[in-house]
Amino acid sequence: MKAITVEPHRPGTARLEDIPEPDVRDGSVLVEAIAVGVCGTDVEIVEGKYGWAPEGRQRLVLGHESLGRVIDPGPSSGLRKGDLVAGIVRRPDAVPCPSCAVGEWDMCRNGQYTERGIKQIDGFMSERWRIEPEYAVKIDGSLGLVGVLLEPTTVVTKAWEQVSAVGHRAFWEPRTVLVTGAGPIGLLAALIGKQHGLDIHVLDRLESGPKPELVRALGAIYHAGTVSGVGLQPDVIVECTGVGQVIADSIQAVAPGGVVCLTGVGTGGRTVGLTTADVASSVVLRNNVVVGSVNANKRHWYKAGQVLAQADRAWLARLVTRREPPEHFTRALQRQPDDIKVVIQFAQA
Ligand SMILES: [Zn+2]
Repeated sequence: MKAITVEPHRPGTARLEDIPEPDVRDGSVLVEAIAVGVCGTDVEIVEGKYGWAPEGRQRLVLGHESLGRVIDPGPSSGLRKGDLVAGIVRRPDAVPCPSCAVGEWDMCRNGQYTERGIKQIDGFMSERWRIEPEYAVKIDGSLGLVGVLLEPTTVVTKAWEQVSAVGHRAFWEPRTVLVTGAGPIGLLAALIGKQHGLDIHVLDRLESGPKPELVRALGAIYHAGTVSGVGLQPDVIVECTGVGQVIADSIQAVAPGGVVCLTGVGTGGRTVGLTTADVASSVVLRNNVVVGSVNANKRHWYKAGQVLAQADRAWLARLVTRREPPEHFTRALQRQPDDIKVVIQFAQA
């Protein structure tokens, strides 16, 4: 079968190639790939900056934002042939650490977790893949292709759960939310905020195009420019850019008692005018919390499925701005200005 593979930490080694059918030991559920979403992590792996091959092998099958159709549910999954499923990405570490031991592998303490398509387990960019029944998540059949948005939705579902848990350490009635960044993560964070009945503002750089239109279609307010230019004191800021300046501005702009949730990962950039002590006094004197959030556990996958099932299908469909066939995977990895979510499509939904 065809698969998109890469030799991690060696740039320029990604290729579409023939590999053996998935091994029965990978899981009793056999799935036909429909689509796999592409994100910044995939680009980093292909550029040789990230990623690990399975033990004893040089190449890794890429892809972690899966959508597939069950070909063979196996004896114990409760799934049926034809069901739409996505595969959970992370697996608990083998020690296991206390978090992994209770199924919260997203909170792994020792970093020895593994991840499909990223860290030591093959991903989902192959015509067929297998999965353990407990890591296959059934998707509402009416979602069709937009079921491919489940994995990014799990990331923001967890982020929102973190915000809520942190906020409720004291009396808390959040109303206004600022989401920085109108990529897939930011737009899905805005969607969940709207489902919670909050006033949502979304900030990005572009003045026009699909991002502002999608924000407005959600009933949220779009802003182009800087955090301070928005002129709000939001109760919650969900930071989805990973840009130093935006993070520093967010910490200063959030309301007293507010929560800044960081979901973006960036590196470098220039030093912004805020020292660590400045950040600390701003946070201390106003009872703010800055919380980082990464990955998702099974509970978030379940809740993310509900988020998508309740969302407007046409709006979700507009998030998938480009579909490329596997043979054009390099095109899928190249970011274009109006891209929101690009997917590699293996079969019709
Ligand atoms: Zn762990």
